[in-house]
Amino acid sequence: MPLDPARTVAELRELRELTEDENGAQRVAWTETWERARGWLRERVASSGADEEFDEAGNQWFTVRGGDGPALLLGGHIDSVPNGGWLDGSLNLLAGVEVLRRISDDGPPPVDVRLVNWADEEGARFGRSLFGSSAAAGSMRDQAELAKLVDRDGVPLPEAIGAYGVSLDRALEARRQLEGAGAYLELHIEQGPVLESLDLPLGVVLGTFGVERSRVTWHGQAAHAGSTPMDKRRDALAGAAKLALAIRAIAAEVGGGAVCTSGGVVCKPGIVTSVVETAEQLLDQRHLDAAELARLRTLAEEASRRFAGEERIDVAWERIWSIEPILFDDTLVGFADEAIREVSGTSHRLPSGPLHDAAEVSRAGIPTVMLFVQSLRGLSHTKLEDTRPEHLELSVSALDRLAARTLDWLAGGSR
Ligand SMILES: [Zn+2]
Repeated sequence: MPLDPARTVAELRELRELTEDENGAQRVAWTETWERARGWLRERVASSGADEEFDEAGNQWFTVRGGDGPALLLGGHIDSVPNGGWLDGSLNLLAGVEVLRRISDDGPPPVDVRLVNWADEEGARFGRSLFGSSAAAGSMRDQAELAKLVDRDGVPLPEAIGAYGVSLDRALEARRQLEGAGAYLELHIEQGPVLESLDLPLGVVLGTFGVERSRVTWHGQAAHAGSTPMDKRRDALAGAAKLALAIRAIAAEVGGGAVCTSGGVVCKPGIVTSVVETAEQLLDQRHLDAAELARLRTLAEEASRRFAGEERIDVAWERIWSIEPILFDDTLVGFADEAIREVSGTSHRLPSGPLHDAAEVSRAGIPTVMLFVQSLRGLSHTKLEDTRPEHLELSVSALDRLAARTLDWLAGGSR
């Protein structure tokens, strides 16, 4: 079948009918509604003639057989958060189905073309995101902790996934799916406001942000709120407050899309009649460039020591979590730019704040790129999530052009 992007929009609406209630999408992984959605997806793919296979991590693979050589992978996730939107994850898959149809219509492809429906991207039921893709990438290393997770109703994770034939002991065997993969492409809604603010339908994702999370503990002296003159105070909160504002200028100085958030401050003793003795401040800093991310943290540390001096208080830094930036493949970023320019005239490159399955695949060493399509009002993970139908159609066309270029590249043995 020739590419028919309008069919993708119709199928997204059909999935919505099948798996939404008045509060939004309810395709939470490891539930009956999710299973119904997977069965429905199977029926949609059938017209492409692809074979279906489930791997040990619960990922659903569809393969259109082609010649020998590194396979082309397209991916998405049909699971949603509770009360989720109609496009997050499912657009990727249904656009991929349309591309599979077009490719199989053209005759056997030069290499295998595979569409993967990753299991439990959202982690909505057990609080662990990227389950299936991290298993396939081999980066799932926390089986012991996963085994202890229980859902809201007290059902343990091993029991819930066991009902779908998945066990933690064998999940990493899904790694064989990425052996022999040549490239991975993922279309996703932006889930943010950037493309809408630029009035552009589509963008190329350069990679996912690296993250530095720190606990900054300020220590002063508790003192009576009535009897302590202003110039005699050692107020821990003053340091936290100065830093919370200073990170704005630091993000602006470093630039390149840097974001910094002072997400919370806990004060002790925390009563209205005392100067604050300790203030524990949580800081989240993100950048696409590892060196610039390090600079964000260094500049904030330097500023904090200056504020500690001004306020005659102490400050201590502790790293609570970090992840390196993940940069997508240069060649594929170039192909994505060309594909977007062909269908909509102008391309734009942007980083992704959220992590995606694509980041796991990229970490596994597979050349990867993502396309973003504009999200209205930047909303996602809510039933208000939306994208204009004409933009959805453009995104299907762009993914198809990108897939065609990538197939040529893989078939040409140029890598
Ligand atoms: Zn998603």
